[in-house]
Amino acid sequence: MDRYYAGIDIGGQSLKGIVLDRTGKLRIEAVRKTPAREGRDAVLSSIADLVIELSSLGPLSSVGVGSPGGVDRAAVVVGMAANIAGWAGTALGKALAEMAGAPCVLRNDANMAAYAEWSARAATSSALLFIGLGTGIGGGFVEDGRILGGCNDRAVEIGHFIVEPGGRSCACGVAGCAEAYASGPSIGRIAVDLALGRDAGLGSLEPEGIDRSFKGSVLAARARAGARLNAFEVYAAYTEGDLLARFVDAVAQAALARAAAAGLALLAPDTIVLGGGVIEGAPHLCSSIQALIPKLVYRDAWKDCRVEKARFLHKAGLYGAALYGAALVESREEVTSLAARALEQSSAALRR
Ligand SMILES: [Zn+2]
Repeated sequence: MDRYYAGIDIGGQSLKGIVLDRTGKLRIEAVRKTPAREGRDAVLSSIADLVIELSSLGPLSSVGVGSPGGVDRAAVVVGMAANIAGWAGTALGKALAEMAGAPCVLRNDANMAAYAEWSARAATSSALLFIGLGTGIGGGFVEDGRILGGCNDRAVEIGHFIVEPGGRSCACGVAGCAEAYASGPSIGRIAVDLALGRDAGLGSLEPEGIDRSFKGSVLAARARAGARLNAFEVYAAYTEGDLLARFVDAVAQAALARAAAAGLALLAPDTIVLGGGVIEGAPHLCSSIQALIPKLVYRDAWKDCRVEKARFLHKAGLYGAALYGAALVESREEVTSLAARALEQSSAALRR
C-alpha cells in the first residue's frame, strides 16, 4: 500500500492542502476559502471538507498542519490568529487527528516553512534560520531537524524585531518592526508615502545617495495618480531601474539585514533562507543581505553563514507541514530523502 503524507496550511484567506506519496510526488493539491468571518465552526467544517479531498486516494499516513500565530503543546490554538472569529482555544490538533484518522501535528506556519527548507538541506545545514517575506514577516529556526518552538511555538518572530525604534507602526501595535519595512504590503506603502512626500518613518534606515525627487520614476507617477502599490509592482519597477523602487528596496534591505544580524547573534545559523512571495520578485535580496551583514554583527557570527533563497519557494509552509507530519511516522533519513524527491518532482507545481 502506498503512503500518503498530507500537509495543510491554514491562512486567514485560504486553506491549502497537499498530499505527497512515498516517491515525493505531489498527488493532490487542494484549496478552500477560509470562512473567517463565519467563525470557528464554519472554518472547522471547511477543514473537514479539505481533509476528505486529501484522503481521496486512500487513508492518510500522517497530517502536518501549519497555523498562523501561537500553538500550545497540546496542539491548541492560542492568542490572535488569522482573524478567524473564536479561533483561539480551538483544539485543532485533536480535531484534525479525528477528521483524518491519522497521526497529526500542528505547528506555527513559519516554523513549518523553516522545517521544509532544513529538510531540503539536511546534508549541508545543521542550523537554519528561515525568514518568510509575505503579507507579514515570519521566522523559524531548525537545528538538526528540531524546530525551536519557544513558548506556544512563537520563537523567532523575527518580523517583530525592532529595526528602527520609534519608526513605522507595525500591525502588532509596536513601532519600528522589520515587518513594517520589508513585508510585501509595507514595501508598497513606503513607496506611496515617499512618492507623496509623506513622512515614511525611515529614520536611520534612510538610504544615502538617492535623490528624493525620484526623477523619471514611473512608480512615483503612478502613486501620485492615486495608485495603491504592492511589493510585486515595486520590484517589477526595480528591474527597470526605477529610482523610487531602488530607494524602497534599499530601505527593505537595511531593515532585513538588521533583523538577520540579530538572528545571527542569537541563534548562530549556518544558513539563512529567505522565502515568501516577496523574494520571488526580488531574488537579489539574498546577496544584498549577505553583503550588509558583516557591518552589523561580529565576524564569527557571519563568516560561516550563507544566505539563500527558499527552495520550496512560496510553498515552503505547505511542504514543510507535509514533511514534518511525515516525520511522525518515518525516520529522519526517510523524510530528508522525501524532501529531495519532492523538490525534484514538484518544480512545476512549486511555480503555480
Ligand atoms: Zn511588529
